[in-house]
Amino acid sequence: MPVSTNPDVMDKLVSLCKRRGFIFQSSEIYGGTGSVWDYGPLGVELKKNLKDRWWHAMVRARDDIEGIDAAILMHPRVWEASGHVAGFTDPLIDCKNCKKRFRADDPKIKGTPGTPDAQCPVCGMKGTLSEPRNFNLMFKTFMGPVEESASVVYLRPETAQGIFVNFLNVQQSTRQKVPFGIAQIGKAFRNEITPGNFIFRTREFEQMEMQFFVEPGTDAEHFDYWKEQRMEWHRSLGLNPDRLRFKPHDQLAHYARAAADIEFDFGGSLGFQEIEGIHNRSDFDLGRHQEYSGKKLEYFDQPNNRRFVPFVIETSVGADRTALALLVNAYREEEVAGESEGRTVLGLHPSLAPIKAGVFPLVKKDGMPEMAQRLAADLRRRFPVFLDDSGAIGRRYRRQDEVGTPFCVTVDGQSTQDGTVTVRDRDTLQQERVASPFVADYIAERITT
Ligand SMILES: [Zn+2]
Repeated sequence: MPVSTNPDVMDKLVSLCKRRGFIFQSSEIYGGTGSVWDYGPLGVELKKNLKDRWWHAMVRARDDIEGIDAAILMHPRVWEASGHVAGFTDPLIDCKNCKKRFRADDPKIKGTPGTPDAQCPVCGMKGTLSEPRNFNLMFKTFMGPVEESASVVYLRPETAQGIFVNFLNVQQSTRQKVPFGIAQIGKAFRNEITPGNFIFRTREFEQMEMQFFVEPGTDAEHFDYWKEQRMEWHRSLGLNPDRLRFKPHDQLAHYARAAADIEFDFGGSLGFQEIEGIHNRSDFDLGRHQEYSGKKLEYFDQPNNRRFVPFVIETSVGADRTALALLVNAYREEEVAGESEGRTVLGLHPSLAPIKAGVFPLVKKDGMPEMAQRLAADLRRRFPVFLDDSGAIGRRYRRQDEVGTPFCVTVDGQSTQDGTVTVRDRDTLQQERVASPFVADYIAERITT
């Protein structure tokens, strides 16, 4: 049953993403890897544009946030301090017969696991299901040549810890004063048992996280500020405001003083789902790292001559999830006046579109292909363009509409006479004649944020 009034476009989107080179299943020729996805030529541009928008808003356009790029592998004690070794677990049930694993709350399980009446939903055997056991969601590997317990390291399950352990390095090297933040974009890994919904929940994913270090007592106002800032950012990407909402947490982690999710309505049966979390984490993380490392992680407040462990306001957004939200939000099918065939459009914000302009010679003669090539080469120095000289002009427009290209530039018979070309707007379908030397500026002006 759909839980959302917005349509379920996921199947169409998965197909479009594969056909046009946005997203492929990982290792597809071997049958695929469970819930791992590869970004193709257009997908990598979309995701990179998205990450650039975040980096610009959070790091470059501010003087109170610094960026870092911490390693994925960290000292194993980090994950003891963070609580992930002891607490980052899901209760799971094993079938002794078919070796399949299930979440303890899997509704397909009949009976009480661990008793003879319980039935495995896969192989159908009775009495083969174990009692629920806690299973850690971190990916484990070994550092160095010996595979023994002393050399176990983890693929980080979140990027945040790389920021906490570098708090003083960054503060002292940049001479930032509290309040200030540290931001990073990077891969994280979780061995989810029930991943799914395309790139919504994957085992390998990319996070964009920022930890803002504040004086205790001022944390509530910073929390409110960041909640609003982050919602405003999602709106600025072109996500429909009606499909965005805050969801306060019903239950808080024991160390958390406040938490809210930003949810997006993915439509269909998925409905509203979290794309970002904003958390007031108190001094939990720095306090734990002080305790486990034995190193002071205090900030020295020089004017007041005192030391304190800052509180942390965290903003944590998934790059893959937000990319999916952008695709869902942008997908539309519509009639075109005066044409029998409709069109599929990705109405992506121009700053996020993988290709900024299609360049077409109207026909393959009379100097038009040469002029189109020169124009494409000129535009390509500023932004990604696609030169297309095959098929009817209408088909070429449709191919660009489908991947979200905001402008299509056509070189026609008049172009070779007076040096002007037509520039067509993806959304309004309006065409304007622009002198070819000014096309790059015309488009650049309209694709910036
Ligand atoms: Zn079984």
